[in-house]
Amino acid sequence: MERRKKGTICVQGGWQPSKGEPRVLPIYQSTTFKYDTSEQMADLFDLKEAGYFYTRLQNPTNDAVAAKICELEGGVAAMLTSSGQAANFYAIFNICSAGDHFVCASAIYGGTYNLFAVTLKKLGIEVTFVDQDAPEEEIARAFRPNTKALFGETIANPACSVLDIEKFARLAHSHGVPLIVDNTFPTPINCCPFEWGADIVTHSTTKYMDGHATAVGGAIVDSGNFDWAAPEHAARFPGLTTPDESYHGLTYTEAFGKGAYITKATAQLMRDLGAIQSPQNAFLVNVGIETLHLRMERHCSNALAVAEFLAGRPEVAWVHYPGLEGDKYHALAQKYMLGGTCGVLTFGLHGGRDRSVAFMDSLKFVAIVTHVADARSCVLHPASHTHRQLSDEQLREAGVPPELIRLSVGIEDAADIIDDLRQAMER
Ligand SMILES: *Cc1c(COP(=O)(O)O)cnc(C)c1O
Repeated sequence: MERRKKGTICVQGGWQPSKGEPRVLPIYQSTTFKYDTSEQMADLFDLKEAGYFYTRLQNPTNDAVAAKICELEGGVAAMLTSSGQAANFYAIFNICSAGDHFVCASAIYGGTYNLFAVTLKKLGIEVTFVDQDAPEEEIARAFRPNTKALFGETIANPACSVLDIEKFARLAHSHGVPLIVDNTFPTPINCCPFEWGADIVTHSTTKYMDGHATAVGGAIVDSGNFDWAAPEHAARFPGLTTPDESYHGLTYTEAFGKGAYITKATAQLMRDLGAIQSPQNAFLVNVGIETLHLRMERHCSNALAVAEFLAGRPEVAWVHYPGLEGDKYHALAQKYMLGGTCGVLTFGLHGGRDRSVAFMDSLKFVAIVTHVADARSCVLHPASHTHRQLSDEQLREAGVPPELIRLSVGIEDAADIIDDLRQAMER
C-alpha cells in the first residue's frame, strides 16, 4: 500500500474513531480495564489475547500516539515510554544483559552518554564509544563476539553532527546486530532512518514532537526488518528467541513475529520497570504532533536564516549547522535529510567563555533554559551549565569548547530572533 504523506499522518494518524466516538483522541485516564470473566483476564496475562488490563503495560491513549509515531517512521510496532532516557534504556536493555556489550557513537546526548557509560556498566553491560566519522574498518574493530547492538543519533545533541546511517547499518549488519538510532532532532518529518537501514528508532518526544515544552516522554519504534530468529542471529538474542520463564515458556519471536521486540519490551520491561508515559502526557504529545510537519519547516528555515546571519558576523568565531552550506556535515544532511535538519545549532564567539556568558545575559527574549527543540528560542552554555564540572581542557576533549553556545531556534519570526542576537552582540 502507498504510504500516506507525513502531514496527513501527523494530523490523522493513530486514533481512528468509529461511529459516534470522539473525533479527538480521548485521554483514557484509567489505570484498569474491565472484563466479564476471569478467563478473559487470564488470557491477557498469558499474552494469548491482545487487550488492556493495566496502564503500566498498555493504555489506549498511549497506543494511539505510538501508532501515529510508528506510521510516521514507517515501522511495524511502537511503544511510548515516560521519557527519552527510558526509551534509550529499554531499547538497549531489551537485547543486552549482564556480560553483553554494544558499540555507540561518541557524539550523543550527555544524558544518554551517562546512562550508557555509567549506569549500564553497573548492570554489567559494557559500551565502546567510537568516532562516528572514522573509517568503517576502524569502527569495526570495536565489535566483539558479545556485541549486541550499534547505537547513534541521526543529528547529535549538541554536537550537530549527522550520522552516516548507511555506513552504520552496514557495520551493524555485518556483525549480526541491529542498528538503533535516536531520531529525536530531525524527527521523522526530516529523516526516516529505516529507509537507510536502521532497525530500531528511539525518540525523546519531549523535544519537537511535543514541541511546546509541556510533557516529558519517549518512544521506541521497530522497523520489523531485523530477523532475530535467523540462524545467524538467534543465539545472540536468547531473550527473544528462547522461552521466557516469566510468561510460561513463551518465545517472543515465535509468538509475535515482527512484533517480538516491542512486545517483549512491553511485556517484560514495562511490567518490571514501569517507565510508562502518562495518558495525559501522551495526549499532549499527540496534539503537538498534529502540527509537527508545519513546525519543523519553520524551525529549519529560521535556523538556516540565523546560521547565515551568525556566519556573517565578525564577533562569531564559528557556526555548526548541518543545514548550512560549507558545514562539515552538509553533504550527509543533504543525503539523509533533504527537507531540512532541525532548529538546533551551535556557535562560538571570539573571546571565549566570558564573551559567551556576557552575550547570553544580554539577550532579551531568546531565553536561557535547559531545554531544546520547542517553539520558543532558547540558549544554553554547556561550559557554565550542563558541563560546568569540566575543565577547559576536558571540555575540548568532549567536543564542547568553552565558548560553545547551543542555540535552539524557535518558530517566532526569524527577523526578531536575529534582531535579539544582533543587539546582544552589539552590547
Ligand atoms: C533530550 C534527549 C534525550 C533524553 O530525553 P528526555 O525526554 O529528556 O529523557 C535523548 N536523546 C536526545 C537526542 C535528546 O535530545
